Amino acid sequence: MTLAANASDFLVALIAAILAVWFLRGRYLKRRRERLPFPNEWRSLMRARMPLLALLKPEQRVLHERRTREFLADVRFIGCNGLSVTDEMRVLIAGLACLLVLRPDAHVFRSLHAVLVYPSAFWVRHQQPDELGLVSDSPQLRMGESWNGQRVVLSWEDVQAALNGAPHNVVVHEFAHQLDDENPGSPGAPKLADYGQWSKVMRAEFDRLHEHPSVVLDDYGLEGPQEFFAVATEAYFQSGAELQREHPRLYALLRDYYGVETARLLV
Ligand SMILES: [Zn+2]
Repeated sequence: MTLAANASDFLVALIAAILAVWFLRGRYLKRRRERLPFPNEWRSLMRARMPLLALLKPEQRVLHERRTREFLADVRFIGCNGLSVTDEMRVLIAGLACLLVLRPDAHVFRSLHAVLVYPSAFWVRHQQPDELGLVSDSPQLRMGESWNGQRVVLSWEDVQAALNGAPHNVVVHEFAHQLDDENPGSPGAPKLADYGQWSKVMRAEFDRLHEHPSVVLDDYGLEGPQEFFAVATEAYFQSGAELQREHPRLYALLRDYYGVETARLLV
């Protein structure tokens, strides 16, 4: 009996020690990673392809590089349909995604494990009911998907289009869904200290889009609050000046959340 109790105590202590070492090792590796200098070739690549970076305050630029590095260290990239994922693809995708986490209290998509990259738009077959409750078995062509906070799927051709200034940006769209997924109790909203102003503006702008087409917000946002948040995020990053002109309250709400004056970008 005593021997059994001792063995059990020993096992508990051993497991606790292993967990403590594992936790401390993770923190040590994270700190070491954050102290490493950001590679110059990554910096040059991002500055050349992402003009928004010039709008960041100096402290935001430091934060953006730190979070991009953290993203690249923690997230696995998987090429699909024969695509070989290059460093350039990884850095640009991580750099775009990390534009969404520049708030001082933000963290880098904690539950995300992998980014799957297809060469171009891809066919998917999901048996999920639509808004009418009907389940369709027919395949659908997608440029991106976000799965329950753990995976993001992207079409590289569409990532490139976004980098070349297209109105759609599949990376920020899918990563806005990731922020949304971190807060499952409030669809269409990331984690916030106060939901009052967010709900008021989002609801009013959703209703407005329902009544009148917008020159800057895609009608796809009418699919529901989650899609509206993702579509509004795309417009904020890709067409900030237009969004500010056409939907000033929505622009101000997103600027206060993301912390970048995207309307200042000259195109
Ligand atoms: Zn979406």
